[in-house]
Amino acid sequence: MIYNKKIFYILINLVLSNLIVFFVNANVVVSIKPIGFITSAIIDNILPVDVIVPDGSSGHDYVLRPSDEKKIKNTDFLIWSGSEIEAFMSKSVLHVPINKILVVTEIPAVKKLLIKIKEDNCIHQLKKQCIQDPKLPLNSKKYNMHFWTSPDIAKIIAIEIYKKLSEIMPQYKEKLNQNLKQFEISLNNIDKQIMMQLAPIKNKKYFVFHDAYIYFEKHYGLSSLGHFTINPEIQPGVKSLYNIRKQIKEKQVTCVFAEPQFKPAIIDTVTRGIKINKGVLDPLGCNIKLSKDSYLKFLLQLSSQYNTCLKDKI
Ligand SMILES: [Zn+2]
Repeated sequence: MIYNKKIFYILINLVLSNLIVFFVNANVVVSIKPIGFITSAIIDNILPVDVIVPDGSSGHDYVLRPSDEKKIKNTDFLIWSGSEIEAFMSKSVLHVPINKILVVTEIPAVKKLLIKIKEDNCIHQLKKQCIQDPKLPLNSKKYNMHFWTSPDIAKIIAIEIYKKLSEIMPQYKEKLNQNLKQFEISLNNIDKQIMMQLAPIKNKKYFVFHDAYIYFEKHYGLSSLGHFTINPEIQPGVKSLYNIRKQIKEKQVTCVFAEPQFKPAIIDTVTRGIKINKGVLDPLGCNIKLSKDSYLKFLLQLSSQYNTCLKDKI
């Protein structure tokens, strides 16, 4: 009897110590930084978050390094946007059990809010048919997948992360719930603040470098006249550059936005000799560190980047 008891205690200890080791080494892996911002708000002080696409790189054509593949294989929870936009992860994700994965674009409430790509995203028109970038994966041609700039979508993602993690690690449910509630309150406040900040510049005209901001713009009532490219790695055609220059000349355009990782000479060429503000929009928040408040900082940064360039014309 005593012997049995001893074995029982040894077994219990073994299970507990393994659990502790599991949670000490556990981590969450996300594909891109903005998803990391939302994730950090929910698992702050619980688990570390690892981002696959590093600062300065673009998710449009990232290639996984062997160390990334290892991270994906060993993670306890993986959050990514799905193969339609992040094709570079499709193969590695197959090594992760399905209950440890959250595909953001497959969350039904997110799916409903995805914005269809308009015809003007075609690289050119052929007999009224839209010819889109052949390098993009087939399905991504239907929707604009830069969903993370929408505060509404961010909230839905946060709730889903909370639900999934509460299932995987029920012992943290209360803390996760607290973090979620706090995130929702802070996000609502920041949202109102940004609404007010951007209200006076709603009618200003501008061009963005690539079409990564449509969700943010729709939410806050801004609208760009257009973008230079749908994939920053692909140079826009001469004809579309000519059209952009023509519009800049004719339509009292206040600002043209570049991006931190792409400061192409094209923008200088197109605006040569024209008095116009030049700004920078960062769709990935590459200078922002992951933290409980990083998503809020990201939205505030976008807002102030719009505001600085659109406030007054030089
Ligand atoms: Zn993009």
